[in-house]
Amino acid sequence: MTRGEPTIVAPATAAGGAIAVVRFSGPDAPALCDRLFRGAAPLSQAQGYTVHYGRIMDGERTIDDVLATVFRAPHSYTGEDSVEISCHGSAYIVSEILRLAQAAGARMAEPGEFTIRAYLAGKLDLSQAEAVADLIASSSRAAHALATGQMRGGYSAALEGLRQKLLDLASLLELELDFSEEDVEFADREELRRTMESIRRETDTLRNSFSLGNALKEGVAVAIAGAPNAGKSTLLNRLLRDDRALVSDIAGTTRDVIEEQANIDGVLFRFLDTAGIRTTDDQLERMGIERTLASIARARIVIHLIDATTIKETIPAPDFPLREDQTLLTVINKTDAAPTLVLPDGVIGISALSGSGVDMLCRALRSAVDTEGLFHGDTVVSNSRHFQALGEASAALDRALLGLQSALPSDLLAEEIRSVIRALSSITGIGAIIPDNILHNIFSKFCIGK
Ligand code: GDP
Repeated sequence: MTRGEPTIVAPATAAGGAIAVVRFSGPDAPALCDRLFRGAAPLSQAQGYTVHYGRIMDGERTIDDVLATVFRAPHSYTGEDSVEISCHGSAYIVSEILRLAQAAGARMAEPGEFTIRAYLAGKLDLSQAEAVADLIASSSRAAHALATGQMRGGYSAALEGLRQKLLDLASLLELELDFSEEDVEFADREELRRTMESIRRETDTLRNSFSLGNALKEGVAVAIAGAPNAGKSTLLNRLLRDDRALVSDIAGTTRDVIEEQANIDGVLFRFLDTAGIRTTDDQLERMGIERTLASIARARIVIHLIDATTIKETIPAPDFPLREDQTLLTVINKTDAAPTLVLPDGVIGISALSGSGVDMLCRALRSAVDTEGLFHGDTVVSNSRHFQALGEASAALDRALLGLQSALPSDLLAEEIRSVIRALSSITGIGAIIPDNILHNIFSKFCIGK
């Protein structure tokens, strides 16, 4: 009965909901479902985008009343005929449907197998497929914007433009080989150099966006530094308290992890080494300052917290090293206990205890992360595989530019340009053959049923 690809089946929803969805895909999906589904008419005769009420039957035993949604190739997620059965959200019912589906000839899907099929059918390119996983994992407006931007293919379009330009250049160079006796240059070297430099600027812009993209996806790392008793734990608790909705609403996430994160105006912030902050001073002594310094080094934003009651004349400068790419926020705590203190511009005064001024600190944290471009459709790289490929493209571009300077023969120059193309193509998979092990790596991180 099977034509071509086997029909795959998987639960598409997490356990515990009111409704569960079991997903089927493959050329035989509707006919296969007819062996367990009994409705007014067979699903194999149904049109795409239609929903059918019926029952899941094990012989004459009714398992559940369900709705079956039919999709017809190519207008489905995978590009194949597909059926989604919505049943009551019981783990038992789902397992019975899976058992009956397998008895009818379906195979349990591997993680990400629906999306692999979508990719192989050309419904999505590779970077869009990866964005599907990011979208499912996204927990803030910024992470959502990153994933949807990548899914809509904005990123793929930018890369495809670069790749086309390079292909044109490489073809012109290769054409020269056919006329090598005659010493002609089809590819104007000056134009070649200008084009390659403009491509390098574009790949550099994409690479530079990774630091922000990665921070937005994983959570922007913040370290709270300051002397013992400055109020670091009190401040942390205050920042987390304002975001309790996130803590309690997400089922199945461990409290420990979530408690160190806060969503401030659409951006997820991650407070580093908060375990260290929370321990007593004795323990902190024992752990040494090294751990604190390591947290500061990992942070994108460092809050230097100073106890207002300890300020003599001037506000002390940080006693830890900072890099240029880090933002320092100087925050004076316990302003309630030092009412006469006058703060210079750019310094934020708070009372972690009462909460006054903390909204200002939140605004400063939020402004330290520039999401303007992201929310206006700029391409922002957030995937480390893409970042690595862009690095390879950039290195090959450097070699090609160097080759151009030293009048490298056209065939060698063309080869360098081809390696730039290969690196860029590996991101979207367009015009490239992606090895199975890389595909496996990408899709094994997906959940079952996606
Ligand atoms: P850490 O050692 O930096 O983590 O400091 P803690 O958060 O443990 O705070 C040290 C002491 O300062 C505690 O007794 C807090 O209650 C107190 N404290 C923290 N923030 C404030 C504040 O804004 N005003 C006042 N008056 N006391 C504070």
